[in-house]
Amino acid sequence: MSKSIYITTAIDYANGTPHIGHAIEKVQADVLARFYKMQDRDVYFVTGTDEHGQKIFEKAESQNRNVKEMVDEYAGIFQKMDEVLNVKFDDFIRTTDQKKHWPSVQKMWEKLVEAGDLKLDKYEGLYCVGCEEYKQEKDLVDGKCPLHDKSPEKVEEENYFFNIGKYTDEIIKRIENNEFVIIPETRRNEVINILKEKQEFVSFSRPKEKLSWGIPVPNNPEHVMYVWCDALTNYISALDYANEGEKYKKYWKNGEITQFIGKDIARFHTLIWPAMLLAAGVKLPDRIFIHGFISMNGKKLSKTTGNIIDPFELVEKFGTDPVRYYLLKEIPAFGDGDYSEERFREVYQSDLANGIGNLFSRVTNMVDQYLDGAVDMSDYHSRKSGNLEMNKYTENLQYDKALDILMHKVSNVNKLIDDEKPWQLAKSEDRGDREKLEKVLIEAVNDLYSIAKALTPFLPTTGKTIIDHLAQDKITKAEPLFPRL
Ligand SMILES: [Zn+2]
Repeated sequence: MSKSIYITTAIDYANGTPHIGHAIEKVQADVLARFYKMQDRDVYFVTGTDEHGQKIFEKAESQNRNVKEMVDEYAGIFQKMDEVLNVKFDDFIRTTDQKKHWPSVQKMWEKLVEAGDLKLDKYEGLYCVGCEEYKQEKDLVDGKCPLHDKSPEKVEEENYFFNIGKYTDEIIKRIENNEFVIIPETRRNEVINILKEKQEFVSFSRPKEKLSWGIPVPNNPEHVMYVWCDALTNYISALDYANEGEKYKKYWKNGEITQFIGKDIARFHTLIWPAMLLAAGVKLPDRIFIHGFISMNGKKLSKTTGNIIDPFELVEKFGTDPVRYYLLKEIPAFGDGDYSEERFREVYQSDLANGIGNLFSRVTNMVDQYLDGAVDMSDYHSRKSGNLEMNKYTENLQYDKALDILMHKVSNVNKLIDDEKPWQLAKSEDRGDREKLEKVLIEAVNDLYSIAKALTPFLPTTGKTIIDHLAQDKITKAEPLFPRL
């Protein structure tokens, strides 16, 4: 029996609307989930929102809003984004969920205490409210936080500190042994370098008056958990870690785990998260995939300069599958990528309209015209999938490479048709030509069918439309899949 599969994305901070960076990660994770589901693997795919923290609390206050009501709204918007992108998660975990999330977080905290790795200690330092983070002199530029252009406050307070230094050697070892796989290789090397800096302790709590919107520390109501133990534990709270329930056993303990994250949070997921798991005696995920960033017209995305891409607008304008295609094919899986409307239109035209779309129209049109819509389907399922290489790329999360192979196949079939010229064969009275015509079109339908199957995890609607159309008793000329923009 193959192992069950567990797939997660990072949970998004519920204090604003999603941008394209949120979208790409969900789509990438969705492809892997759909890919395995198509192979009848037992898959569980979880995404969600991170809804605690002082920034969220203050934003709600500044707008005179109830904070829970505000995070409900943003969580709803993130779910709506998944819906318009056709991202089919199995569960959506929210950190304000006191029934599902909190008990697991409190259990994790207690495990860290039991391990002797959480200690209450005095801390004196510089604190940037914008970052919600302690700063060191080396992080500052002219005494200011470079992200917020503000001098951090001097604070002296009690925090719980997690002894992360105890686990860094073990984490490095597991990364180097490929027990804990970091993809891609370039990020893996960056991660190892960060781990080798040997940070000793990480602050895991704040006094209640500093952080009022969060999960209380067990047995010390004066303290509230800082983001780490709260947010990172979502990956197992969604599986009922608190009670070590069925899902936890199936998908975490005995599952194959892939976690999708962005490069900005790589450190937390390759240092703090595995250290927590080791301390709590919980197994590590099998793989962490770190995607890159998207720029627009060669410039960094930024709310302040207005250089932003709204996933809702993009889908509204171009449709779900074309947006998915661009994110998966044009943004390098293992690096950073760029969006421009010009490039989007080019790719839409060449790969979708003139590629897959054209192949679908012409094949169905010719089968309708020359074979009266009837194709001998007996050969369909007997064929070995010709996409083994593509599957390998997909499993390794190199979606751009996988789609390269698929597009290559599309042009090969288009070329077969151009070379064999069924329209000429159809005019011929010769019996050999009739047989050849039939053979060419059966071949083309077969290829189109296997292309559609391989395409389905990436472009679910397009794949299904083609498959359903070819499954009809009488194949008719199809409507264009990708009309001119
Ligand atoms: Zn800051």
